[in-house]
Amino acid sequence: MKNVSITVENGVITDISNSEITRILWEGQEYLYHDCEILPAYTDSHCHVWGLGMINSGLDVSGCSSAEETALKAYSNRFMRDNWFVGRGWNNELWGEGNLPDKSILDKLFPDNPVSLTRIDGHAIWCNSKALEISGINENTSNPNGGIIQKDSNGSPTGILIDNAMYLAEKNIPEFSQSQLSDFIIKGLDLVSKSGITCVHDMDLNIRHLDCYRKLAHENLLKIKVFAFFGNQNGEAEKLDLEPMQIGNFKLQGIKLYADGALGSYGAALLDEYSDKPNEKGILMLSSEEIFKHCLFAHSKGFDVAVHAIGDRAVREVLDGFELFRNAVSESSINLRIEHSQIVNPDDISRYKELNVIASVQPIHFVSDSNMAKKRLGIERLIESGYPWEKFLNNNVMMIAGSDFPIESYDVAAGIEAFTQRANQLGAKEIFRECVEFSSAVECYTVKPYLALGIHNYGEICVGHKCDLIIMDSSKKIIDVLNNNHI
Ligand SMILES: [Zn+2]
Repeated sequence: MKNVSITVENGVITDISNSEITRILWEGQEYLYHDCEILPAYTDSHCHVWGLGMINSGLDVSGCSSAEETALKAYSNRFMRDNWFVGRGWNNELWGEGNLPDKSILDKLFPDNPVSLTRIDGHAIWCNSKALEISGINENTSNPNGGIIQKDSNGSPTGILIDNAMYLAEKNIPEFSQSQLSDFIIKGLDLVSKSGITCVHDMDLNIRHLDCYRKLAHENLLKIKVFAFFGNQNGEAEKLDLEPMQIGNFKLQGIKLYADGALGSYGAALLDEYSDKPNEKGILMLSSEEIFKHCLFAHSKGFDVAVHAIGDRAVREVLDGFELFRNAVSESSINLRIEHSQIVNPDDISRYKELNVIASVQPIHFVSDSNMAKKRLGIERLIESGYPWEKFLNNNVMMIAGSDFPIESYDVAAGIEAFTQRANQLGAKEIFRECVEFSSAVECYTVKPYLALGIHNYGEICVGHKCDLIIMDSSKKIIDVLNNNHI
């Protein structure tokens, strides 16, 4: 919207009128903008907040030019998990000879505490003697399957553990503390808030995350609205007897389940075998009967149900489970959603609508995955069943969008571009079908995510609605975000 005057009182838009200059009267305060556009602020409907904060916190040693400098940086910029020093990002290719580093360099600075520094590619860790000792790794330890314990000419471990050998040490690294987790949450929310996101659907919480959120929300420290989904794959929410709860701008909204794995690792459960792995159909983690039981629990508490399903077999199984629930409980206000909904048999698309199931998609995954997906599925199946956004819209399925950050970038503009362009990572628009119009794409990040939570009148710029606002300049740069930080 351009050249308008918008008045917001008590969080509600009370007036929209034409104006020479863009003007917002926000809770009594006037904001004036020249040559700017006003948009509703965004929601990321599927993300992992603490994970984003975590990978943007801690010790980063990526800029170091030698093993010694890396060790010194770890020493002077300490980041600890209990008594362990941890960090990541070293790259021996940048260090003269390019040799892998040795435990002795770390031992000089860290004689008493264990140290684990992860290589930039995540495929090796560099440990000191103390870490090896705690992990029981010595000259007699043999390589685990798929891993290498580097040893010197005397057969003594050098401190470098590769791939599956990393786990031998990493399993001993203590958990993050509660205050570290809280810092990650604050950091994650702070990062995304700068890109015009004022609401997130945070997935896969455990009790430690929930405790952090409760505390932060009580202290009014959450910068944006958070609707959380608690991991209940093994009945965790049931054992804790959790109830939906709202504290300030935090709400425990639902439970989260997994029906299958991911396509890249052949974990997505498919109806037919993988094109590049004969006889392999992936892994189904929950049956329709189990999904049904989860729904009954959720209904008894008033929780929404969000189920991860990537393959067409998993999607069908979840729909079957949801159907059992809809047949058993005719009146239920809980929302049912399928996270990712990446490969959906065309016969199942209309069932989303019939069963009132939300398709929660991450368009940016298409950009990263389409080449891999083509191998796993073959081009015909990919075109017929893959990432069926237009089919969802044509069948009036409620579709909402997110990024799955930190797995992908939280930049909503990139998500909208993926929706509308549907180009792969190399920019090739191989598969033109299933593109989404710009305005529909925006709705999947604005008004629809609220509707998917059962919240009406939020996220649209019209009188009577609540709506956070983004102000963009002519180059589409966000220059302001006005956030009514109340649920
Ligand atoms: Zn996720």
